[in-house]
Amino acid sequence: MFGAAALALASGCGGGEDPAAGRAVVAAFYPLAFAAEHVDATADVTNLTPAGAEPHDLELTARDVERVRDAELVLYLRGFVPALDDAVRDSATAVDLLDGLEPLEGADGKTGVDPHVWLDPMRYAALGERITEELGETADAAGFVEELEELDRDFRTGLSGCERRTIVTSHAAFGYLADAYGLEQIALTGFSPGAEPSARALEELVAEVEEEGATTVFFETLVSPELARTVAREAGARTAVLDPLEGLTDEARAAGADYFGVMRENLAALRSALGCP
Ligand code: ZN
Repeated sequence: MFGAAALALASGCGGGEDPAAGRAVVAAFYPLAFAAEHVDATADVTNLTPAGAEPHDLELTARDVERVRDAELVLYLRGFVPALDDAVRDSATAVDLLDGLEPLEGADGKTGVDPHVWLDPMRYAALGERITEELGETADAAGFVEELEELDRDFRTGLSGCERRTIVTSHAAFGYLADAYGLEQIALTGFSPGAEPSARALEELVAEVEEEGATTVFFETLVSPELARTVAREAGARTAVLDPLEGLTDEARAAGADYFGVMRENLAALRSALGCP
């Protein structure tokens, strides 16, 4: 296994290793991989989550565990992929990107710490800066941060003066986005999409959606829309996609989708649901 000291030594004396070969970076899932690739074009980034898979319930293969062990840098968010939290327990090369971001705690019966920081563009920019620090001189966050500042401005403008402020989401992925733009989130499940609400909880959710006058119940691309459809039907609302960007499907990737494009689609979906001018 590579230790930090051994690495510093290897790069310091410029021996055997090809200096042009990028650093081996392992990222837990899409937004972390995208940020690493964006700030350092030389990095050799592996995304542990296969295309189209929902990373919350990712299982690591023996090959994945080996990749994590051999990587020069492992990027993760604690609490997001429990199997990876276990795999990096004694790792000297793993960086928990929630550190330093003042993570939001659970509310509304959602327990634990909310890991979905990338859905607030400015917190995502801070995450990119943190990755840049870890990667050192081959990395530069300036372009990434600039693009995110522009996205943040678009969200701020796009979500001002709207008729409604409450968003109904499938799982509780949009707490940071809501926090950044003064929205309220009603989530049908918790921080992870796995747990289904009880019949009683479902009734309460429907009542809450009706009371808030929400017109839209959002569902996700990587999770079954059944629950969102049920709540929407009961509450007399419609459904639409709000993508938490936990991963991209092969089709989306082939069509050229990336974080920035999907976030702008999210903004359009929010503007329509919230009745923005
Ligand atoms: Zn999530």
